Amino acid sequence: MKLSYSSVSTYRNCPLSYKFYYVDWLPTFPKAALSFGQSIHAALRDFYQEIKETAKKNSSTDSNQLSSVNPTLPFSSPLPLERLLFYLRLNWSSEGYKNKGEQTEYYQKGEQILKTYYEENKYSFKPPYAIEERFEINFDGFLLTGVIDRVDETDEGLEIIDYKTSQFVPDEQEIRSDLQLPIYHLAAEKKWSSKPHRLTLYFLNPSNRNNPGEKPKYKYSFSLEDSEVKKVEEILYQTLEAIRRDKERNHFEARPNKFCQWCDFKLICPEQSGETAEKIEEHLHAFQRYKSLKKELKEIEKQLSR
Ligand code: SF4
Repeated sequence: MKLSYSSVSTYRNCPLSYKFYYVDWLPTFPKAALSFGQSIHAALRDFYQEIKETAKKNSSTDSNQLSSVNPTLPFSSPLPLERLLFYLRLNWSSEGYKNKGEQTEYYQKGEQILKTYYEENKYSFKPPYAIEERFEINFDGFLLTGVIDRVDETDEGLEIIDYKTSQFVPDEQEIRSDLQLPIYHLAAEKKWSSKPHRLTLYFLNPSNRNNPGEKPKYKYSFSLEDSEVKKVEEILYQTLEAIRRDKERNHFEARPNKFCQWCDFKLICPEQSGETAEKIEEHLHAFQRYKSLKKELKEIEKQLSR
């Protein structure tokens, strides 16, 4: 069985939504926020990839370029902002927007976010150790999978970086108790046999609604003690056991939570739908029909593109 941070956290929030997403594989609909986040992530990925390639090229042509041979030092001649904006244009996905106007608004916001990011980092750009690094590691008989946005090499060790495009910035306690970065820590330890020195969440679009007028905090870094890593492993074991148990008895409990308002399956959720059992059954059939039509459409597209 494969488990990712998203599936673990979906299960911990609501086992029934885990079932809809990861057991029944019900289809979801494109959303503006998701599409927007993917476009920004892809722009940063390609920009850092270019930094990496440029540094490599420089190191083979100019042995005096210190930064290109030592990845812990800033890149001495950063790429211009235009390259980052070019990569946004190149990777822009237009899926999920309600109309052209909404898409334009998001696009302008994306440009603004990347301009701010560039300003915040222009003196410290350096070739990354890894970008969008996929991992698949064995963990107690299952595969723990995921993608790490960026890994930097510092004098003290590896820094794991995850970008966030949502405006909401959780408080420090919430950030530390979330499993995403600790899971990446475990993966990095296994993948590169090196304990990460620092875990960083980079909020690209933080809201300052709590302190209007002040620049919101956009970067949170922390490191994990061995005892904290053990605790994460323990939570993963327990979650895995709970999923196995629910699968065996084919019963996943609905657990209403603060994310219900964004749940893709509200219509078919007995706790949130507000419809009769027959109507819920009807909606469920519609989901399954949509899923098989999507699959059919994919096959037709494949056939036509041959
Ligand atoms: S609406 Fe809430 S309770 Fe229902 S499946 Fe979704 S997350 Fe779970």
